[in-house]
Amino acid sequence: MPMEREEMPKIPLSRWSLVAAYLGAHLALDWVSFIHEISPLNVTPWNPPAGLMMGTLIVFGLRAVPLAWLGLMAADLMVRDLPVAVWVTMAANAAVAAGYGGAAWGLRRRLGLDPRLSRLRDVVLLLAGAAATPLAVGIGYIALHTLAGLFPWSDFAGVLLRYWVGEVIGIAVLTPVVLVVLRGAAARPFRSASWWPFPRSSWPPSWPPSWPPSWTPSWRVAAELAGYGLIIAVTLWLDFGPLAPAQYEHFYLLFLPAVAVAVRYGLAGAAFASAAIQAGLIVAIQATGAETARTTHFQLLMLTLAVTALLLGAVVSERRRVEAAIRERQSDLARASRLTEAGEMAAALAHELNQPLAATMSYARAARKLAKLEQASPRLSEIIDKTVAQAERSDRVIRSLRDFVRKGRSDRAPLPPGALIADCLTLAAPLAGQHAVSIQPEVAPGLPPVSGDAIQLQQVILNLVRNAAEAMDDSASASAGPASASASAQGAAPRRRRIVVFAARAAEPGFVALGVRDSGPGLAGVVERNLFAPFVTTKATGMGLGLSIARSIVESHGGTMTAERLPQGETMFRFTLPVHGAEAGRHDA
Ligand code: ADP
Repeated sequence: MPMEREEMPKIPLSRWSLVAAYLGAHLALDWVSFIHEISPLNVTPWNPPAGLMMGTLIVFGLRAVPLAWLGLMAADLMVRDLPVAVWVTMAANAAVAAGYGGAAWGLRRRLGLDPRLSRLRDVVLLLAGAAATPLAVGIGYIALHTLAGLFPWSDFAGVLLRYWVGEVIGIAVLTPVVLVVLRGAAARPFRSASWWPFPRSSWPPSWPPSWPPSWTPSWRVAAELAGYGLIIAVTLWLDFGPLAPAQYEHFYLLFLPAVAVAVRYGLAGAAFASAAIQAGLIVAIQATGAETARTTHFQLLMLTLAVTALLLGAVVSERRRVEAAIRERQSDLARASRLTEAGEMAAALAHELNQPLAATMSYARAARKLAKLEQASPRLSEIIDKTVAQAERSDRVIRSLRDFVRKGRSDRAPLPPGALIADCLTLAAPLAGQHAVSIQPEVAPGLPPVSGDAIQLQQVILNLVRNAAEAMDDSASASAGPASASASAQGAAPRRRRIVVFAARAAEPGFVALGVRDSGPGLAGVVERNLFAPFVTTKATGMGLGLSIARSIVESHGGTMTAERLPQGETMFRFTLPVHGAEAGRHDA
């Protein structure tokens, strides 16, 4: 189970409520836009349900076609009331739903439309789809009704044109809003195993971290939006109010808020601004009872405005994203160069420490000889032996580090996992005392030897054990204090302060899994995302290099390292190492 990220709270929604929401929205949009209809087909100059349907089909795919058909049927039967037989309506709506479904499929699968509209290309594709689809669908839809005898063929072209204008505006204005709102769901793969249009879900579908896009609600934002609203209201009053001239010459003023919002808030802002202006326009038309010719004229102006705002918003959003990517790349580069410097520093340090360490070792060996000659106390001899052993180990660590920096890889030998872990436990014994934790091995029987550099792998395991011990220190001081820490070390609450170093069979053939589990507090949210990146630390005196170096060592051995939170709340760092013979076999092959 991979580490879960902190997520926004979600409102659980059943599938039925999503379906009901879709149908309700379709009906409501159809009802508010049912103005200036031209009988007998009741084509309106503005058809927002088409935008809702297109957006839903783009996000949820062909599975949503039956739902789209249901929406069309409900609207025709409850709002439009067409004077044709029901089967004609059923067939015509099937053609429309299938046509839009096919267009959505083509846009995504064939033309690569990203439903999050993350690039300018996606907006252009959507607008092209908005222009082409209603034309193709409209031909079938209107031909069916002509065949059913609703009107003569001579009216065909005129009806088609009106139908097309209404649908294009509906899609250009509403589909971007639908896609922005459903962004999280749109990130899912287009075709999923389920036949159901909406996956078992919650709302928001998977709340995108970029939502709200690039701003947080504040009084300043509210005042700014109110300003745009005022410009829209005044312009509409100028064009529709008592002083309105015949030519609606103030419409261009509506470009001001649309462009401003697109520049300030990118594509999402542009989508909502167009929808708001369209809604204002419809209210004004309804309130003043403007005639049909005027309405169609306005719709064409509106289309120009929506297309301008969307393209501008897409350019702004794309530019912001590229800038953010560049900033991230720069900080990666800065990190990489700091890491190189750290590597060079380590090499220099290893070089400088070589001499004094060699001297320390020869003095310690001389002391051991002297102690033997002069029959010193056994206690003194033991301390001198330990000094020699520790100095020799430091020498090996430095030598191995130097080799690693120089060659990028190290010596390989067959290492039985049990023995490797036993060595680490001996080395970690002082840690257990200092942090009052119990450190236990857990080695599955019959594991084959792994291939690796013993010193480097000991460093990996020791680093993980040290991190685990320090993490539990933090939790003890935060929750219970040192008294309980020592009590638990004596066995009062062994589960709370336990570190397990384990080795087991890995799921990947040819590998053994090793790792460290602890019953500490778990990873802090701030480090979780970049856990293995260098210089990421929560400790006052930490360098944040331990995990980064540990992972480099594991990867130079051909393995991988991951961190997980176990269901019991334990933190587990796990890495894989190749089985000795298997690795040789793979390289030979
Ligand atoms: P450092 O120990 O210098 O901070 P590391 O790279 O070893 O550097 O660790 C990075 C961070 O990861 C630590 O600061 C700590 O917040 C977190 N961490 C590592 N291991 C654990 C663990 N077992 N439990 C909780 N947090 C951990």
